[in-house]
Amino acid sequence: MGFGEFLGNERIVRALQGMLRRERVPSALLFTGPRGIGKYALARMFAQAANCERLRGDFCGECSSCLRVARLANPGKLIEAGLTERGESADAAAVERTPLIIETHPDVWLIVPDPVRLRTPVARPMIRVGQLRAVQRAAYFQPQGRRRLFILDGADTMRWDDADLFLKILEEPPESSTLILLAQRPDSLQPTIRSRCLQFHFAPVPVDQIETFLKRRTDVKVAKPELVAQLSGGSPGAALSLDVAESFRFRKTVLRLLEQAVAGEKYGDIFASTTQLAKQEKESFENVVSVFYSFLADLLEVSQGPQKGFLRNPDLRREVESLGEKVNWEWVLRATRSLDTLEGRLRRNIGRQLGLDSFAASLGVR
Ligand SMILES: [Zn+2]
Repeated sequence: MGFGEFLGNERIVRALQGMLRRERVPSALLFTGPRGIGKYALARMFAQAANCERLRGDFCGECSSCLRVARLANPGKLIEAGLTERGESADAAAVERTPLIIETHPDVWLIVPDPVRLRTPVARPMIRVGQLRAVQRAAYFQPQGRRRLFILDGADTMRWDDADLFLKILEEPPESSTLILLAQRPDSLQPTIRSRCLQFHFAPVPVDQIETFLKRRTDVKVAKPELVAQLSGGSPGAALSLDVAESFRFRKTVLRLLEQAVAGEKYGDIFASTTQLAKQEKESFENVVSVFYSFLADLLEVSQGPQKGFLRNPDLRREVESLGEKVNWEWVLRATRSLDTLEGRLRRNIGRQLGLDSFAASLGVR
């Protein structure tokens, strides 16, 4: 047990361990990086190490403090229990009055985007002002152990108006508390918040490390670990939850759109494909964009010559190579720029259907 169990991003782990050993822990940390890269796992380990009864700068995983924090490893059931306790028919006021807080250790809180579905408006899961107020109060309590920790998963879902309240905690930080904010992209947080946190960006874990990690897992059996590691985009969490057959179907749909556009099919047919893709849930729609990027990277790779290099979609190599014969690298660069535009529009919440349509329309081979 201990930080040695954590996969990848060794530099970040060493920096965190150094802080704990010297007992110079900042009041706010910000972990950024893609989904499944290990931000949450490392935040939880940090909370264990900050309060471990036996070790300093690491954690034993066996003392009562470590065991209590370890229960946060699979928060799904705890979140369900919290929602049930609050009652199914919570209205907006009740949601703020009874904020969703996951606590398995008196000094460690987990705050997640509240998934409550209010009738009007239908809100996406987000960190609510009630949760922030609770953190604001509790941050000034004396810890029972050594340090109070507040892990804010999905910190980028808090409303920017509410973030001002949050800023107050960051501006007058209590000495014995640390907030750990988790977000995929640093620019999704207000600059005033970002600048008050010590920021760590998590890099993709090398493919061979993920493959070894999958092969060594005893709790889950992963079929085709080599392929899964390649498809994971350097994210151990994504690797563990990846459904190879589903992923194949999904990527094939995305590839089909590229093939149609390159073949110069009628707009009516192309737009039927974009409509299908635009219907994805928000989460997998973000994935659509990253899958497009992965195909463009593969096309660039195969344009260097046949049978070389590593493909991000190794199970679709034949299809990628055949499409690669119809385009040149200038086309790939142009398509990448169009995709950057699409991504920018989506970040500003401009209609995804329209964005996808104009992206597809820009892909014709001139
Ligand atoms: Zn311990």
